[in-house]
Amino acid sequence: MNNNPFDLTGKIALITGASKGIGASIARAFALQGATVVVSSRQFENVATVADALKAEGLNAYAIACHVGELQQLNGMVGEVTQLLGGIDILVNNAATNPVFGPLESAETVLFDKIMNVNVKAPWILANLCLPSMKERGGGSIINISSVEGLQAGMGLGLYSTSKAALIMLTKNQATEWGKFGIRSNAICPGLIKTKFSAALWQNEQWTRRLVESIPSGRIGMPEDIEGIALLLASQAGSYLTGGIYVADGGYLLTH
Ligand code: NAP
Repeated sequence: MNNNPFDLTGKIALITGASKGIGASIARAFALQGATVVVSSRQFENVATVADALKAEGLNAYAIACHVGELQQLNGMVGEVTQLLGGIDILVNNAATNPVFGPLESAETVLFDKIMNVNVKAPWILANLCLPSMKERGGGSIINISSVEGLQAGMGLGLYSTSKAALIMLTKNQATEWGKFGIRSNAICPGLIKTKFSAALWQNEQWTRRLVESIPSGRIGMPEDIEGIALLLASQAGSYLTGGIYVADGGYLLTH
């Protein structure tokens, strides 16, 4: 008998934006716990590299290219995973975009549409597409990667912040509507994590020094810092957790 409540043996996990950063870290953490992970992002070479590295460690991984803003590609990806692996137990909506920095009034409407399409509409559609499979399998776990920006304004990231707040409310509604199917939905709100996505922030040394001095943990986060909470939410250990918003920010929100 397996006494490990974090064990994911036999589970199929689909992770978007998993060619690097937080998504790649989560994929490896899940695979190390026995899950078969589907590593997805826009660039096939990038996800293939991640999947090959996992396979070289003896883990189960598949690579699928998918731009989450393209409905046809979302449909294709879920169809392919279902056909190839038989279904989906865990969905991590991690891919996101943030093409604009600055005042709300100066952003072009086309950028608003792009941000909402990738950060909100795609997680909604992808979860809907995974729903039949999760229902059939008697349950599932959806993990939406939001941000501290979804809870607090002020960094000049107004539209991104608005999209991440919407993702939090999508999470709560998924949890409310799909709990009866054994499906849980939770959101993780990372603080500043050192990845390509946030490079414009942490590459500013002066700004980062001031930030680090103000964070109770005294450092900015690394992608691996998000693995533990993701694993908890994905696994049996988190079986009573749904509709929750989990901040992983080294205490940033306490002081900002
Ligand atoms: P990252 O290291 O830059 O990785 C982003 C990933 O998303 C890459 O795999 C990228 O691969 C993929 N991607 C980008 N656009 C995509 C699209 N339209 N469709 C499919 N895949 C796409 O970023 P990260 O920092 O790990 O960010 C992951 C998540 O954490 C995001 O939701 C972000 O909002 C959130 N977050 C990050 C921070 C932070 O400080 N880093 C803080 C709070 C929340 P391709 O280029 O191959 O598509």
